[in-house]
Amino acid sequence: MASYRMKTFWVRPLRCMTHDGDDQIAAPDLLWKASAMLLRSGPMTRVVRIRLWHVPLTSHTSYRMADGKTCDTVESVVLALDTDTGQTGWGEVCPIPGYLPAYARGVAPAVTEFAPVLFETELTGPEAAPARLREHLPGHHYAHSAADIALWDIFGQFAGLPVHALLGGLRQREFPLYHSISCLDPEEMASIAARAARDGIAQFQVKLGREGDWELDVARLARVRETVGSGPLVYGDWNCGATSLDATRVGHAVAHLDIMLEQPCRTIAECARVRDATGLPMKLDEAAHDTGSLLDGAAMGCMDAVAIKTSKFGGLSLARRARDLCEHLGVKMCIEDTWGSDIAMAAALHLAASTDPRYVMNVCDLSSYVGPRIAPYGPSRNNGRITVPEGPGLGISPDTGILGTPDMVLEG
Ligand SMILES: [Mg+2]
Repeated sequence: MASYRMKTFWVRPLRCMTHDGDDQIAAPDLLWKASAMLLRSGPMTRVVRIRLWHVPLTSHTSYRMADGKTCDTVESVVLALDTDTGQTGWGEVCPIPGYLPAYARGVAPAVTEFAPVLFETELTGPEAAPARLREHLPGHHYAHSAADIALWDIFGQFAGLPVHALLGGLRQREFPLYHSISCLDPEEMASIAARAARDGIAQFQVKLGREGDWELDVARLARVRETVGSGPLVYGDWNCGATSLDATRVGHAVAHLDIMLEQPCRTIAECARVRDATGLPMKLDEAAHDTGSLLDGAAMGCMDAVAIKTSKFGGLSLARRARDLCEHLGVKMCIEDTWGSDIAMAAALHLAASTDPRYVMNVCDLSSYVGPRIAPYGPSRNNGRITVPEGPGLGISPDTGILGTPDMVLEG
């Protein structure tokens, strides 16, 4: 099989030691050259079957955000790409209703649309097929994301390497988690923060704006800061739900509390207005979703941090480019996805693992917020941190018993 030849022929000569003594791949460019050479010497691999499941993920506690948005049960879409050489690559995307221009039931039609192109594409590298799929079906980043992640999983399995080795090489195995606190009464939010702090969490995202009452948002931030004490990172996230006036009033009221603001308003220009008026550091999320918006955020001086969500950019291929740009711009990153379970989480962890540690602000253990877990033995929170999976590809094993019968099967 192609995968066996690749493992034995070229992985070992490319291994070296990193600064901290870890066994790691020496040079990604050599990896590409070697893989291309080997793929030319053997039969090309193609995707021959696509399986798709809709999986309802239920929050352990109701999750509330600005503008009345609530996540109780949200449908995730799981994709399996089977190759003619026996690999199965796994992908996942879980759009939150009303959050981004994406919806779960849009994935299957989009996948059906680009499936013929995927079936005919030779998998000469992890980015070969995604580029063709994007040409065939522009936009629809969320649907592309699931296929793109699955293709990186396949190529990691071919190479016998974890995906992080293909994304630039291992920089760190373990990362700090943030804990997202649902927009509730300030006392309830303080209690949630206290419990998370006891679990070792040192970064707290405080959801704001549910009632449009800026003074209540001030109380939320103040109570969480008082509860966790000085030192931990505390930031208030409006998910675009505030006016710049209200966000500025909140910012002025908490300016003495060491608080970061996150995406108060819909546009980058509005967020920049809040950043300028308050002087508080700002994280962008919804408005930063491609190269142009990242450059705009940096140019307007309101992107001290940014959320690199895999499905927002269209998968690992484009999220990696965003990651590289943020490293260049000196922007801290939260590397995660909008929602989801173990597959989406594993993909984000591999991207984080190959990122300069100075710029990894935090990651998210998506699967800890919802049930069921799709890969029950995947990474889990441990003292406020989480570790990237090892093993070829994404390094996780989705439980097909939990998934059940696919809702859609396409054959190439
Ligand atoms: Mg956010």
